[in-house]
Amino acid sequence: MKDSFGRTIDYLRLSVTDLCNYRCTYCMPEEGVCKRAHAEILSIEALYEIAAAAVRCGVKKIRLTGGEPLVRRGILELCRMLRQIPGLETLAMTTNAGLLAPMARELKDAGVDRLNISLDTLDAARFAAITRRGRLADALAGLDAAKAAGFTNTKINAVLIGGVNEDDIAPLAALTKCESISVRFIELMPMGECAHWPAGRFLPADAVLRTLPDLAYVDNDGVAERYRLPGAIGTVGLIRPMSCKFCSRCSRLRVTADGKLKPCLHSGEEISLRGLHGKALEAAILDAAQKKPAAHTLGLREPSHAARDMNEIGG
Ligand code: SAM
Ligand code: SF4
Repeated sequence: MKDSFGRTIDYLRLSVTDLCNYRCTYCMPEEGVCKRAHAEILSIEALYEIAAAAVRCGVKKIRLTGGEPLVRRGILELCRMLRQIPGLETLAMTTNAGLLAPMARELKDAGVDRLNISLDTLDAARFAAITRRGRLADALAGLDAAKAAGFTNTKINAVLIGGVNEDDIAPLAALTKCESISVRFIELMPMGECAHWPAGRFLPADAVLRTLPDLAYVDNDGVAERYRLPGAIGTVGLIRPMSCKFCSRCSRLRVTADGKLKPCLHSGEEISLRGLHGKALEAAILDAAQKKPAAHTLGLREPSHAARDMNEIGG
């Protein structure tokens, strides 16, 4: 499907829960989020119905996100159901990997094609401090298990937090040396928990280029500028929602765990999909594509207009 600016919209990010086993400082309050009534969260069947309608409208890739998708009851069943949708080319998932080790093979068998693993640091104490609950060892075990289960093209996503994890740029990038892995550094966006953090926390991705002057430019895959360390197998990516918008290449729609379709991550516009079926559901999805803005207005002095935190939208 095309939006009103001629962009092809073929990518759906589907949030399957707003709950999470971690409490990352920039994403969630320490006390967690109020558990929504069971009836407010989309059922597995409703998630499937929305996904199938989106594919009929032209979506080719679905990414399951959250909250943490692996805490969602029925996640494997959902993956198996989504995999059956004719026309769906890629089923991906973004996870913090804390629960991945025992589930990696089942996810692969359920039809998940690719994983993005969020990992902001390789320092165990810093990992515990950022996530407030997580253990680095579990995330690394998850990463190993994904490889053993046959996942390829896995991406590691690290949010850059000024004054917190600059020291991790070099060790994280070094993971690309011997493996065909992509490590992507993402600029922190001012929304929810970190909307009013001091400016110094919002580190421009150029910090990566300053830290690693040997990085050689490879290409731009639409979202990330990709670079390679000398002799490395994998790539280092820079995702710059703040310093260099990629809205002109945006291909996404997002659905929140409570069934609201968001044309743009940072706008307050939401279209409720609850209770819609068949052609009415398809019409709402096509309508959301038409409502995509040309670009977001996010900036350091202009926090996100999304009336929700990241754990509710899914990044
Ligand atoms: N729990 C899963 C995870 O952490 O991978 C999936 C959901 S999480 C909201 C998706 C991604 O959004 C994570 O990589 C996280 O680091 C990122 N994220 C959360 N808040 C952010 C912010 N304010 N700016 C940039 N990225 C953010
Ligand atoms: Fe949970 Fe992911 Fe948010 Fe961290 S970034 S609190 S892992 S949803």
